[in-house]
Amino acid sequence: MTPFDYARASDVGDALRRGKAPATAYLGGGTNLVDLMRETIARPTSLVDVTGLSDEIRRTDGGGLSIGSAVRNTALAEHREVRAHYPMLTRAILAGASAQIRNMATVGGNMLQRTRCTYFYDTDGSRCNKRQPGSGCDAIGGFDRGHAILGASNSCIATHPSDMCVALAALDAIVHLEGSRGARMLPFVDLHRLPGEHPERDTMLEPGELITAIELPPLPFGANSTYRKVRDRASYAFALVSVAAAIEVEDGTVKDVRIALGGVAHKPWRASKAEAALRGGPANVAAFKAAAEAELADARPLRDNGFKIGLAVRAMTAVLGELAGVMA
Ligand SMILES: Cc1cc2nc3c(=O)[nH]c(=O)nc-3n(C[C@H](O)[C@H](O)[C@H](O)COP(=O)(O)OP(=O)(O)OC[C@H]3O[C@@H](n4cnc5c(N)ncnc54)[C@H](O)[C@@H]3O)c2cc1C
Repeated sequence: MTPFDYARASDVGDALRRGKAPATAYLGGGTNLVDLMRETIARPTSLVDVTGLSDEIRRTDGGGLSIGSAVRNTALAEHREVRAHYPMLTRAILAGASAQIRNMATVGGNMLQRTRCTYFYDTDGSRCNKRQPGSGCDAIGGFDRGHAILGASNSCIATHPSDMCVALAALDAIVHLEGSRGARMLPFVDLHRLPGEHPERDTMLEPGELITAIELPPLPFGANSTYRKVRDRASYAFALVSVAAAIEVEDGTVKDVRIALGGVAHKPWRASKAEAALRGGPANVAAFKAAAEAELADARPLRDNGFKIGLAVRAMTAVLGELAGVMA
């Protein structure tokens, strides 16, 4: 591990001032960053602890929720308003990691956790363009069972690991940022990148930029939402495929719908094609399956992960059917 110094930021301004120094990283709960430092994948020489920033969850004037970046994952999952109005978010968070890790992990840190691609972690023997740009990718042509089927590139086939982020993508969340050029807001679906030629860049954040909050707009039918995670074992495993969805059905017709997928791409995958296919159409199993197939039409299976395409179609169909109350 590279030696580092540590400071706890007293407020956003203090964090930004300290965050300007070279080789500085913000520290949330440390449940991902410290592992990466132990493996020498991340080598910051200064850590700025941002767990003292806002840990408030409050109603916005528009009727949504504003969630401070230092809110712990457990607190967010358990919050009364979240459970009542955005149950998919509660379920997504509780599907991840363990109770101990969720107690430590922050909202800001969860959003910026890095891929679990085993080649990314294998510093001894594997090439990885994400870890070392331009070095190559041993996952391509390697054991790729857990890798991406959508949006991958010739440089990287890693997937995004977060469960929480899949729900945030479906919920049209907005990320609040502060940086050297001031404050800005970014739609959550634009926070993470597809790998392209630069898989070393996970997000659209500028160097030193700080996540201060995440905002959930009101979703009138959000109470009718859920998250389903399909994985190799019941706990302590990342998603092979996951689905976050909310649906509003009136007189047998889909009035509105939100869907996002996890475990399939370098970023949480908003299923816009499926949503467009469903809006205004019948709320039945055949329509849900057709919409899921439309979303997966561009999927490109690798050697070991072709099963994810059918799995994603079945998981989406089942989740939508369950929410619409039309399962056989
Ligand atoms: C054994 C194990 C199992 C796990 N299983 C799952 C799982 O099934 N599903 C899942 O979703 N996750 C899982 N995780 C990952 C876990 O959810 C993340 O480690 C956690 O959410 C990261 O949050 P943190 O606050 O600890 O982040 P940290 O490790 O502190 O930071 C992560 C990154 O975020 C940056 N950062 C932190 N806060 C800010 C901020 N405010 N602004 C800008 N940058 C910031 C840091 O610089 C760092 O780059 C697992 C982790 C472990 C160790």
